Amino acid sequence: MNEAVQILLIEDDMDQVKCTVDAVRAWKSDALVHEAPNGPVALVQLGHEQFDLILLADNLLAMEGIEVLKAIQSRAKATPVIILTDQARMTLSVEAMKQGAQDFIIKNADYGDLLNLSVEKVFEHKQLQMDLDEASARTRHLYEVLLSLTQERKVDVVVERLVQGASALTLTEKSLILLIDPEQSDVIYSKSYGIDIDDAAFLGPVESTGLLSLAYTAEQPVVIEDPPQHRLWEKTPWMHHILQQLLAVPLVLGGRIEGLFCVLNKKNAEVFSSEDLNVLSTLALHAGTAIDNARFVEKMEKQAITDSLTDLLNHMEFQQRLNEEIERSRRYGKSFTLLMLDLDHFKEVNDTYGHPVGDKVLIETAKTLKTLLRSVDLAFRYGGEEFAVLLPETEVQGARIIADRIRQEIAEQSILTQTGETLHITVSIGISEFPQDADQREDLISTADQALFASKRNGRNCLSLYREALKTVIENDPINLEDYLLDPEMKTLLDLAAIIDAKSPYTKGHTEGVLKYTMHFSEALNLDEGQKKSLEFASLLHNIGMVSVPTRLLSGDRPLSLEEQKIIQAHPILGQMLIQKSSRFESVLPAILYHHERYDGHGYPNGLEGEEIPYLARVLSVVDSFYAMISVRAYRPKMTKKDAIAELRANSGSQFDPTIVEAFIQLIEGQAHPLAEKVPTSI
Ligand code: GH3
Ligand code: MG
Ligand code: MG
Repeated sequence: MNEAVQILLIEDDMDQVKCTVDAVRAWKSDALVHEAPNGPVALVQLGHEQFDLILLADNLLAMEGIEVLKAIQSRAKATPVIILTDQARMTLSVEAMKQGAQDFIIKNADYGDLLNLSVEKVFEHKQLQMDLDEASARTRHLYEVLLSLTQERKVDVVVERLVQGASALTLTEKSLILLIDPEQSDVIYSKSYGIDIDDAAFLGPVESTGLLSLAYTAEQPVVIEDPPQHRLWEKTPWMHHILQQLLAVPLVLGGRIEGLFCVLNKKNAEVFSSEDLNVLSTLALHAGTAIDNARFVEKMEKQAITDSLTDLLNHMEFQQRLNEEIERSRRYGKSFTLLMLDLDHFKEVNDTYGHPVGDKVLIETAKTLKTLLRSVDLAFRYGGEEFAVLLPETEVQGARIIADRIRQEIAEQSILTQTGETLHITVSIGISEFPQDADQREDLISTADQALFASKRNGRNCLSLYREALKTVIENDPINLEDYLLDPEMKTLLDLAAIIDAKSPYTKGHTEGVLKYTMHFSEALNLDEGQKKSLEFASLLHNIGMVSVPTRLLSGDRPLSLEEQKIIQAHPILGQMLIQKSSRFESVLPAILYHHERYDGHGYPNGLEGEEIPYLARVLSVVDSFYAMISVRAYRPKMTKKDAIAELRANSGSQFDPTIVEAFIQLIEGQAHPLAEKVPTSI
């Protein structure tokens, strides 16, 4: 005990007070004795100050009853009480002992000596109690740290708990855990408590110059109490102000030593005890298992969200992170951007150089992506040779710059084939911003996809913003359509149709496919030139009304409600409204408006029947339906040509004009005909 002992003497007999104070002083000259003449005054004093010992005269007990002792004890729970008693009131003193007083001293001739002995005994007892309390608190704390380790699944948290726990349990200023790759002799992970990790690195566990190399090579606990005496100390002079003492134990991971667990500098200038070594060794033992387990869990978790070929996040994780990003964006009102990337003519790479080279291209492209992105950006392998990038808190202008850098870098990367050839690849990119371009998850993907499709149509190796894509421009301002329709170049119309088809992955390439069939069919049907032209334009423009149909209705991932079906069924009328302003397409209007009528009168929009339906509309209906049948749909795989023919026949006379169906079947079954073997490649 370094500070003066504080004693509260509760005594009303002044002679006895003097006698006791003398006896106390004889025991310890600097002891401070505070006097209280009665119980209530003592209680007030106990409210203000802390005492190491209370001496209570038993005549006060007699006056105020045993209750005063109870009150004193409840005020100062940990403070021992010694009763100063007269022979006459021995029974009372015994009662007081039963109530928790530590001892009693009889006021007789040997009073001073007795007091001396009793106080000494009480303090010894108190010290023992404190030591026991401390030991059990330490054991409890150790147990708590170990228990918390078993519940943790993240290496970082496990190690954080360990370094904190180690310092608290060994009463040290700093602690440190280093994980070492024994093959590379390299520190692969470190965490410190109370010390800058960069400073800790200078302890050099694997370099022969570092002090910790002793502990690492010793493969057993090492205590360094006096580093300046140590031969390695001179080599790390910058550590002198950080390190005064060191206790290090090896960490065994996966059955071999793969790390060190150290505590530095005892508080209160003490030396390391065997108890410190025990505690650190116990912690290290459990640390090994806990870190191993957490590493395994982390590895499994990472595997579940990573694409094994490219090491990018996988498709499932894309959906998850996209949800999170949308939630964050909605909460904080910040935009983010989605890039969809698709490698150009990748099939050719596979066909020319083989799949292993194709895979190499994917790996290199993923690497390029990673190096170009900020740490907050996320890159995913969306599927096959398609990638997605999420750029948090980035508007479309910023995204355009990043996307263009990606595009350029990928175009510049050279990939070496097995035969030593150098291969180059390009990428097309579509960009859409949340929530400006789409405020729903599916719509955001679809709009980025449509923009990507626009890039493909624009010749590849380029990027497109959804908001600048042709379809969006028309959707926002239908007047523009007139200009496009007036364009004598067919390509513009084809682009327009393709971009509208791209609203859904299932209709991509639809218009182009239908066009191919109708062109051949119009020959077979012996149409005149005017009719041929009308059918060609009708094939191109029949779905143009889809421009105003919300994208989510076209994803094909769920059955549509009646209301939703009505929205889709409005597309022939919308199409007609959009193009009727252009006199150039006057002859095309009936085919567009009625291509969803049925021969039996149950179609839409007007329920026309049989020959009431304009001829070209009946022709288009057959080709349009056939092409849909042989394309993939969300709800069914694509049909074979044979099945599609059977389906046409099954609906001949009800949905379709029988004469036209037979002519069409003849055309596609005619061996000599170029369409006979041709099955559309696009989905
Ligand atoms: P486009 O410019 O229109 O995108 O042309 P493309 O050839 O890239 O066409 P598309 O996107 O339809 O073709 C994708 C091809 O990517 C199909 C498949 O052969 C190839 N592919 C998809 N996944 C992998 C993969 O994991 N490894 C390899 N080697 N090839 C893949
Ligand atoms: Mg693709
Ligand atoms: Mg591609």
